[in-house]
Amino acid sequence: MARYTDAVCRLCRREGIKLFLKGTKCFSDKCPIEKRNFAPGQHGKDRKTKVVGYGLQLREKQKAKRIYFTQEGQFRNYFEKAVRFKGVTGAKLLEQLERRLDNVVYRLGFGISRRQARQLVRHGHVQVNGRKVNIPSYEVSVGEEIAIRESSRKVPILEIAKDFASHQPAPVWLEIDRENYKGRVIALPRREDIQLPVNEQLIVELYSK
Ligand code: SF4
Repeated sequence: MARYTDAVCRLCRREGIKLFLKGTKCFSDKCPIEKRNFAPGQHGKDRKTKVVGYGLQLREKQKAKRIYFTQEGQFRNYFEKAVRFKGVTGAKLLEQLERRLDNVVYRLGFGISRRQARQLVRHGHVQVNGRKVNIPSYEVSVGEEIAIRESSRKVPILEIAKDFASHQPAPVWLEIDRENYKGRVIALPRREDIQLPVNEQLIVELYSK
């Protein structure tokens, strides 16, 4: 499966909005979208066509996929699982994505971006209920405790993330103990708890064609 390795800021410019993929840089005037808010590439500036219909649905899907850093196949699997759940499919899709371990580590404030949080998971710095879990797509459940391993608490990015996170609102479905580098899932995330610039209904329409 191909992994995206190009500059992530291009993804925001492609979508025309801030996707907050780079942590502190996204809140500074170094954010490229502040200066160059047009599509990347040689002809990006000239492309002014209005996106409608299929194009709009595709952009919404790409946005969600890029925010959570998932691959196409994996994203599709989340959708198919969401269809089987009771309730609104689009909401179920986002709720599942929100439960990914890399996202939870980011929401707990241990990484300044989901990408950085994913790296922490991948490198074995994270444990769930006292056991090391290095699978970013691991789905957390109510009652589980997510913590940074004791031996990993000196990782420099954790200090930067701690400072960054202290300015971010904490999600209502997580209990956070930043001093001790841990948190607990106290409820499952609901759509209304997830602040995302995504219209999930358009994603459902895209996949239902
Ligand atoms: Fe997007 Fe952040 Fe890059 Fe700005 S700095 S373009 S918000 S990833």
